[in-house]
Amino acid sequence: MPAAAESPPLFFDEGDLVAVLTTQPLDRTLDYKAPEGGCFMGAFVEVPLGPRKVLGVVWGKGAGDFDYNKIRSVIRVLDVAPMDVSMREFIARAADYTLTPLPAMLRLATRAPGLGDPPSMRYVYRLGDARPARMTDARARVIAALEEYGGLAFTLKELAEAADVTPSVVKGLVKAGAVLEQASPRDLPFPHLDPALPGKTLSADQATAVGALTQAAARRRYQTTLLKGVTGSGKTEVYLEAVAACLGAGRQALVLLPEIALTAEFLTRVEARFGARPAEWHSGVTMTERRRTWKMVGQGNAQLVVGARSALFLPYQDLGLIVVDEEHDTSYKQEDGVLYNARDMAVLRASLVGAQVILASATPSLESWSNVEAGKYQRLELTSRFGASQMPDMRAIDMRAETLPGDRWVSPTLQALVQQRLAAGEQSLLFINRRGFAPVTLCRACGQQVGCDHCDARMVEHRFLKRLMCHQCGETKPVPTVCPSCEAEDRLAAVGPGVERLGEEVTALFPDARVAVLSSDMYGSARALKAQIEALAAGEADIIIGTQLVAKGHNFPLLTLVGVIDADLGLQGGDLRAAERTFQLMRQVAGRAGRAEKPGVAYLQTHQPDHPVIKAILAGDEDGFWTAEAAERKAAGVPPYGRMAGIVLSSPDVQEVFDVGQAMAQNVVPLTRIGAQVFGPAPAPIARIRGRHRVRLLVKANKTAPIQAALAEWVRQFKLPSTLRLSIDIDPQSFY
Ligand code: ADP
Ligand code: ZN
Repeated sequence: MPAAAESPPLFFDEGDLVAVLTTQPLDRTLDYKAPEGGCFMGAFVEVPLGPRKVLGVVWGKGAGDFDYNKIRSVIRVLDVAPMDVSMREFIARAADYTLTPLPAMLRLATRAPGLGDPPSMRYVYRLGDARPARMTDARARVIAALEEYGGLAFTLKELAEAADVTPSVVKGLVKAGAVLEQASPRDLPFPHLDPALPGKTLSADQATAVGALTQAAARRRYQTTLLKGVTGSGKTEVYLEAVAACLGAGRQALVLLPEIALTAEFLTRVEARFGARPAEWHSGVTMTERRRTWKMVGQGNAQLVVGARSALFLPYQDLGLIVVDEEHDTSYKQEDGVLYNARDMAVLRASLVGAQVILASATPSLESWSNVEAGKYQRLELTSRFGASQMPDMRAIDMRAETLPGDRWVSPTLQALVQQRLAAGEQSLLFINRRGFAPVTLCRACGQQVGCDHCDARMVEHRFLKRLMCHQCGETKPVPTVCPSCEAEDRLAAVGPGVERLGEEVTALFPDARVAVLSSDMYGSARALKAQIEALAAGEADIIIGTQLVAKGHNFPLLTLVGVIDADLGLQGGDLRAAERTFQLMRQVAGRAGRAEKPGVAYLQTHQPDHPVIKAILAGDEDGFWTAEAAERKAAGVPPYGRMAGIVLSSPDVQEVFDVGQAMAQNVVPLTRIGAQVFGPAPAPIARIRGRHRVRLLVKANKTAPIQAALAEWVRQFKLPSTLRLSIDIDPQSFY
């Protein structure tokens, strides 16, 4: 059901048949009669479906294959701008690409409550001119609260809380004329961002990059640019100028960030550059704010959105620029529900509306690197760090030559280096990419490892929470004192390092140092985490111990030493991207050191100092690494030089899931016809999640093979039991 091009937009008169795509899981559009007053193509509508009213979009002319008289009418047209043809096309193409049913795609594009509600009003409270005849302590507190915040309006709840009074006290003051009660629309436009405010004075490198980007923007044609530069080289400043050019041209911009914890710092930078804060869209935003953002984006009253991947599906009226910051980050791949890669979808969306894409990264994905090689993307590079700071030196600590007891992880060499930093009043960061205290809890009596009851995964001890946790399904339980299998008492031992355990070791090694452990699960909210990171960066700790969280974009000016506890961790998985991930992560972690005036050094503890990835990291030889990695992937015919799809079947019934997997593996004509190969069925690397057994098939094809159509035809051949779930992941990023 691809959207057809049209201009001017089609209009349907009352009674005309329209095809409506709803958000309900149906495999086709439904016919309705256009309502009184008619409707445009793309209109958001409410339609009857059985006894319910559901949301939908007018997707085309009705098919007319039912008795006209029995067809029901659209209930109403929602008071929002119709979905334009490029957005309909985007949804249709994204659905085709990811093999996602259209209704699920439409749900992504309408994920805000109350979209159809008329602009609702609420009461707000401000300071009036009169003073009440009778003054009480409570009343005085209300007035003081209003005075403290100048002309700001409060809701009743906010004001009562700020003044620590009951709402009736406020109402009393309204009666007395001391407080004004005013109706105000709930969804306010976002404050104006002024692109004409002065930016920073750019370095020559930056100015060249900005020049190339703004020229492209002026042409209003689609283009993707890979903006490469080490952390701290000034990429953010550069793309802020591209945002300025986009806003200056009257178009909207979107900046995607991989991690909510990063948004706060970025919002502050936007405010400094443009004089106001942009709209936000991510899981930390309230439902009310979501609706406001959705509506204002649709009315063109939000110039800039900063958000997570699903912000791609907002109803922009004139999108001119999408920035994907840290474009290599794995969190851009949605791994639940609709499986899409926001980086690729950003490129698709931009290409449909004549917008620019900027992919910013210090360590681009091999996909983007190869698109540059192929001439599809432009490449801009910032070659030096901004100001005096240098990329740190990187060196290996050969763990084969260190003597270390089995349950300790900081080598004597690294210990001595940290000691030097302590003496000099500088910060050290010790990095380990494992949350919790220890990855394995082992019974010393029977040798069993404590596993999750619902998944085929080990439970990870989190001492901070005093529980064992499954990192797969999130299930937790108290740390047992008795072995669940052999019932021996007090024989359970924590095995292997986690960030919390490293914290204990370091505290013992450096009793006088201030040690801080930074891990996402230790802070209740993104805000608390952000506050903690800021305090650490300002010098509140001498030694910071962190997981991959710290690898992402934060500034630590006092940091001069980075120690990577286990540089080999990422090299062990069977994942085709293991080498790439390790390379990126190590580079980023190392990029934390020496961001200010003082040069930094990074040390990698490794048992394989001669491994090609470790050697490339140490040499800082990026092009060398990518060229070698590209050659290997080309030879193996895997992404980005071949196409892959992962098919995961899951069911509570292990026999059923293997039977269906077998049947699928035996009837592969639609796939072999396009030259694709099918591997499996095999137990998925995580063979059970939340009580469902998982079996995986892998499909591999040439880069140009029409894999989606073949997959769809292949899957259609099978009648799947209702207990079985099938998911198809095109271009899988992780293999689990
Ligand atoms: P990146 O995004 O590549 O990590 P940033 O844009 O965040 O780099 O720049 C790193 C630091 O240098 C930031 O604190 C930023 O404010 C500063 N900076 C970058 N460019 C300039 C400039 N032209 N003038 C002044 N400060 C700059
Ligand atoms: Zn589990």
